[in-house]
Amino acid sequence: MRAILIGEHGVQSANLIGGEWVRAAGGAGHQVTNPATDAVLAEIPSMGADETRQAIGSARDAWGGWRGRTAADRGALVGLLAGLMRRDADRLARLMTAEQGKPLAEAAGEIEYAASFLDWAGEEGKRLFGDMIPASDASKRILVLRQPVGVAAIITPWNFPSAMITRKLGPALAAGCTAVIKPSELTPLSAIAIGELAVEAGFPPGVVNIVTGDAATIGDAFFDDDRVRKLSFTGSTGVGQKLMAKGAKNLLRLSMELGGHAPFIVFEDADLDKAIAAAVSCKYRNAGQTCICANRFYVQDAIYDRFMSGFAEAVRALKVGEGTGEGVAIGPLINDKAVEKVEKHVADAREKGGRVLVGGERVNIDGLADRFYAPTLIDGMTPEMLLHTEETFGPVAAVRRFTTEDEVVAWANDSEFGLASYFFTRDASRLMRVAEALEYGIVGANDGGPSTAQAPFGGVKHSGFGREGGKYVMDEYTEYKYVSWAL
Ligand code: ADP
Repeated sequence: MRAILIGEHGVQSANLIGGEWVRAAGGAGHQVTNPATDAVLAEIPSMGADETRQAIGSARDAWGGWRGRTAADRGALVGLLAGLMRRDADRLARLMTAEQGKPLAEAAGEIEYAASFLDWAGEEGKRLFGDMIPASDASKRILVLRQPVGVAAIITPWNFPSAMITRKLGPALAAGCTAVIKPSELTPLSAIAIGELAVEAGFPPGVVNIVTGDAATIGDAFFDDDRVRKLSFTGSTGVGQKLMAKGAKNLLRLSMELGGHAPFIVFEDADLDKAIAAAVSCKYRNAGQTCICANRFYVQDAIYDRFMSGFAEAVRALKVGEGTGEGVAIGPLINDKAVEKVEKHVADAREKGGRVLVGGERVNIDGLADRFYAPTLIDGMTPEMLLHTEETFGPVAAVRRFTTEDEVVAWANDSEFGLASYFFTRDASRLMRVAEALEYGIVGANDGGPSTAQAPFGGVKHSGFGREGGKYVMDEYTEYKYVSWAL
């Protein structure tokens, strides 16, 4: 059943429940389209509460057998899934570019990045050590066990359609949990493709389930079902807050990776070439649609003009086009609403005195959808501008001049968000001082690309809680239990 209309890159147009590829009752479905061309890629199921409960039931039934396997067995399967993703990297990257829009090279990079989370988690599952604690009573021993929480619900966004799944699925499976994945309605095909590879890898039926459809219907079915013991969510802060309130009902364990508003600080002693290259990749990757991309640039007086001219030159060189095009750096935005938000932020910045040095408008490309926005650079950012407080989620950099370290650290921290932050300096003392002072979960110190499977990705404040990656992620999917053992 390879019914999807993207040539040889097709995947199932069905959902994975209990090891079977199933369609929605009554054939309900919704279309997935290419944001660059509006071409219909597939019609996939719109599952309701019943099917979601069925998926939860399958995951619950599979849990006993799955948790009973050795960590080495589970890790081997998780690693095998990583290997299959690498084997099919080209196909998966094309699929991702088709449904999400990002340049093909970035999509291929994401497939490798996604596989790296599986590799890491598969290994880390073997190191879920417990403890033996000396007790205060000589006739007792205290044994600490780490056990999987149970069925994990996984809700993911469209901006990283594969990596946001594997970053959660890998550790969940490695720890001995089973999973029900609800991908974004905008990018479900990458998720279904991972499901197909999970079947090929040989995961037992019910260990990995995928349901697509109306977000609130599926979400509410998760919250109403006490067989779900964990929700890991990546998405907007507003939705995260709603889900957290709903999770109260069953005291659901939560991981929340929410929005960000990253400051990017360039001190006068920075390596300017390095800072400019990082500013470009950090801001314009995925057309600015990443939760850790730089949102506010602060550049010190003495190097302001030099930085701006180098930055502007680099931004002008970025090619806009369909993600499959040669040398394209900026693909389409995900949908019309996204373009309208960027337009609103740029218009607001202009009204409030911002000077548009590069871009500042849509780019019309013959035969393609009207969803491309020129990489944009704005000078003279002020705290009153919308782009200074809200996530723009588009290819727009806005820059403000600063004078002192204390001033810029205070500005950087003046945000409700606390996910990623960046700064550039060659002064070792300043490096440690500023890294410690920034109220963010992630600090890129002379580094515009800090994400990696080894490190504990996550935020503070309105950017959420919980950590994904590294040894720390296993805490998200395990419970501590102690056995007080009287001799
Ligand atoms: P973004 O669109 O910026 O990625 P969202 O927070 O809107 O962020 O979406 C992230 C994920 O959350 C998507 O999979 C979306 O379908 C899902 N989602 C949105 N609203 C709900 C909801 N009420 N219940 C469950 N999931 C939701």
